[in-house]
Formats: sequence, C-alpha cells, structure tokens
Amino acid sequence: MSTPALERLCVHTITTRPWPIETAASKYAAAGVKGITVWRDALAGRDIARTGARVRDEGLSIVSLCRGGFFPARAQAERTRALDDNRLAIDEARALGAPLIVLVCGAVPGQPLSESRRQILDGIAALLPHCEAAGVKLAIEPLHPMYADSRSAVNTLAQANDMVETLRSPHVGVAVDVYHLWWDPALENEIARSGRLRALFAYHVCDWRTPTLDLLNDRGLMGEGCIPLRQIRGWVEAAGFDGFNEVEVFSTRWWAADQDQYLQQIVQSYGEHV
Ligand code: ZN
Repeated sequence: MSTPALERLCVHTITTRPWPIETAASKYAAAGVKGITVWRDALAGRDIARTGARVRDEGLSIVSLCRGGFFPARAQAERTRALDDNRLAIDEARALGAPLIVLVCGAVPGQPLSESRRQILDGIAALLPHCEAAGVKLAIEPLHPMYADSRSAVNTLAQANDMVETLRSPHVGVAVDVYHLWWDPALENEIARSGRLRALFAYHVCDWRTPTLDLLNDRGLMGEGCIPLRQIRGWVEAAGFDGFNEVEVFSTRWWAADQDQYLQQIVQSYGEHV
C-alpha cells in the first residue's frame, strides 16, 4: 500500500474537541485537511446552514454528521422519541450540507441483543422515507463488543451487512471504523461484501493502545497502537471505496495537549501510518 493522499484526509470535530467548529475548520484547512465530519455537539447554539456554508468557504468537504442511532429502548414511547431525534438529525444534516449520518445503533443493558437488533432494524426502516426526502444517507457503524451492553448491539461488520441486505435501500450502508473492527477474522471478507453491496459509505481511523486505560476516551493516534492500518485501508480500497480517510480520536490525553501541535501530528501520522 502506498501513502494515502492528503486530499482524502478528513478530521472529526470531536478529535480536536477543545476547538469550536469555526476554529477547527480554519485550522484544518490551513493544515491541508480537505474533509470534516461534524459532531452534533459542535453545532449547539449555531445557525446550522450558516455554519455549513462557513465550513465550505474554508475549502472543506463536509463528509458526515455524527451521530444518530440509539434506537433500542424497553418502552415504545422511548423508541418513538429516538426516532424523532433521528429525524431531527436528518434535518440538521440537510441544513448543514452533510450527505451522511453515522449511526451508533444503541443497546439496553439486560435486554437481549437479538431484541435490540430487531428494534434497530425497525428504527432504521422507519427513517427511510425521511432520508429519501432529505437526500441524506445512513451508515450503520458496528461497535466493538465491549460496547454491546449499552451503546450498540451491532458489533461486527457481518451484522451490519446483514442489516443492509435486509433493508435493501441505497440510503443505508456501513461505516468501517478500525477501532471497532480490527480484531475480526472475517473483516477482509466482510469489507469486500460491503463493497459488493455498494454499501461502504465511510472509513474511520485511529489506533488501539496497549493497555487501553479508558473504554471510551483512550483511543490512540494512528501509529500509537497495534491496528494494521495500511492493510485494512488496502481491503477498503480493494472493495472500491474512494472516499475520505476520517481521523476519529476520542482521547483525554490528546484533548489536553496543544491542539495546534496535535493537528500537525495528525497530518504526519496520517501520512506515515494510514
Ligand atoms: Zn467511528
């Protein structure tokens, strides 16, 4: 595998969480980053359409909005509320000019995973008319099994691909995040299957640190861990993916660092390890 093109580098706003989105957009553009994925919290209190225009004026492509999902709940009223919030997210994506929403699908501690998966499938199906009207796609992001209790009952790419096959909509695909999927012996085959389904909508990179000190906020920057990043990008590109390589790092350690130096490190690590 060759070095990844800088034109395909995207950074998630949460990666540089201390920066407001306006700062992030101008700093990313100055550093040569070409894409931005926006987390909904970065839009709080803002005119979303105007924020989207401002980000594009910096020369950045808006790759996706993070995140929707969290469909399962024990009570119907809660599941209905979740659908309402997802429709709001779809409206926000449209206003922002983001073509895609990434789904963290949800789970309920103590509720059987099979039941949560059924509720996830029903939830996504219920959103499809709204997606079609808004021209916004959804990407199911499988999460590492350590999050199967409360964050996602979708834990392998095979499960996500199965859902894509069941839903049969050009508006539903998958997001491959190396942090969640690198360990899976079926990963190469399932990435190829996503490609055949024309469902490989997004690719997220970071690294897995040993030891990992926090289940949520101790992701590594690329090169700080054990994920075979270049090999996995090879599989993704062999499956026909030609979108952005999105740097998504939740890290208490990096959020405490000087964010300008960190951004330089992100660009360097991208070139050396992705
Ligand atoms: Zn991700």
